[in-house]
Amino acid sequence: MAVQAPKGTKDVTPQESYKWQYVEAIARDVCRKYGINETRTPVFEHTELFLRGVGDTTDIVQKEMYTFDDKGGRSMTLKPEGTAGAVRMMIENKLFNEAQPTKMYYLSAPVFRYERPQAGRLREHHQFGIEIFGAPKASTEAELIAIALEMISRVGIKGLSVNINSIGCEKCRPVYNEKLREYFKGHIDELCTTCHTRLEKNPLRILDCKEEKCKEVAKGAPVILDCLCDECKEHFEQLKGYLTAMNIEFKVDPHIVRGLDYYTKTVFEIISNHIGSQGTVCGGGRYDNLVEQLGGPKMNGVGFGMGIERLLLVAESQGVEIPKNENIDVYVVTMGDNTEIAGFKLAYELRKKGLSVEFDNVGRSVKAQFKYAGKINAKYVAVIGEEELANGQAKIKNMENGEEQLVEFDKIADYLRGK
Ligand code: ATP
Ligand code: MG
Repeated sequence: MAVQAPKGTKDVTPQESYKWQYVEAIARDVCRKYGINETRTPVFEHTELFLRGVGDTTDIVQKEMYTFDDKGGRSMTLKPEGTAGAVRMMIENKLFNEAQPTKMYYLSAPVFRYERPQAGRLREHHQFGIEIFGAPKASTEAELIAIALEMISRVGIKGLSVNINSIGCEKCRPVYNEKLREYFKGHIDELCTTCHTRLEKNPLRILDCKEEKCKEVAKGAPVILDCLCDECKEHFEQLKGYLTAMNIEFKVDPHIVRGLDYYTKTVFEIISNHIGSQGTVCGGGRYDNLVEQLGGPKMNGVGFGMGIERLLLVAESQGVEIPKNENIDVYVVTMGDNTEIAGFKLAYELRKKGLSVEFDNVGRSVKAQFKYAGKINAKYVAVIGEEELANGQAKIKNMENGEEQLVEFDKIADYLRGK
């Protein structure tokens, strides 16, 4: 039997890559408008980066990382999210010394999580993400939400909701954690065993547990918004103000905590109401301590990650038609041995002039060449028979309306451009 792709991975075939390219072109254009440039960081990093960055009480670190020892005995991990690597890159390249803010995006960056594969939940997926450092104002979060929304809606997706919350800072969260502990202690028998550990180490994580019984208990838990310090409260109010200024509708959802430990203040999710539990297309928030935690200076940060596969899945479920690439301009048909090399050369010359051209590398009959040209939707066919060759011409046929015209070889490119 042929070897199959690993469970939880998804190929992008040449037939469907146009969808990815379409989405990527939109992402690049939106980022251009906000003056954000691309970064590319390694697919694997030292495991320690994620232990320190993502947080050792998160599901990602506890259950989902692809960790291995390399041949030199160093522990490496395939990126389980995009932010930690971006922060490492920022610190290592001393970007904090430049004029602030430091802005960057990554596009179709592979992310690996050992999850239970299902629709919209893969073991390797790809993210479009943005990270902005050195921008303390809540307008930053608001702009990121606007970017994500523009991106998703330009793809053609409808029915999105923006959910925001604040999970406080190192000043107010401990107070909240105590309240949570108190509350959950009263319901300890209703919690899963993992949540028993979470109760001591990081009770906030219980709010993100996927177990039904824990979700049920979490519904009655105290709400963080009631415990925010003045600074966090004000920041949250400002965020709402900026969103309102852009006429962006949002919902305050006090139950969002996100699956990563590094967030402070704002967290947000953009959800499609079309595909159930895998409907979260984009998630992000502020992380004002992460840079320092990873060995950099004190510097705040905000970011989001958007799953490309999820985005395409939502688009598909809504029947969105993503525009296909342009068809091939010209298919060169040759008739007989003598004309073959002339056709080959013509294809080469036309490509030099920028046209997209296909030539028969299969050895098909003339009839089959025409059939194939139709199949690939070539706009024109350039036919070279013995007679055309003798006159240094090709017969250019418009495949849409059947019009034919004899054109000299070196004028074909101009002729087609004129059309
Ligand atoms: P979820 O709640 O769906 O598990 P998450 O909170 O783990 O998402 P993030 O870590 O914030 O997600 O990742 C950002 C985005 O990446 C998600 O909103 C989603 O679009 C996508 N994503 C996350 N995990 C997966 C996965 N296993 N397969 C495909 N896409 C994913
Ligand atoms: Mg997850």
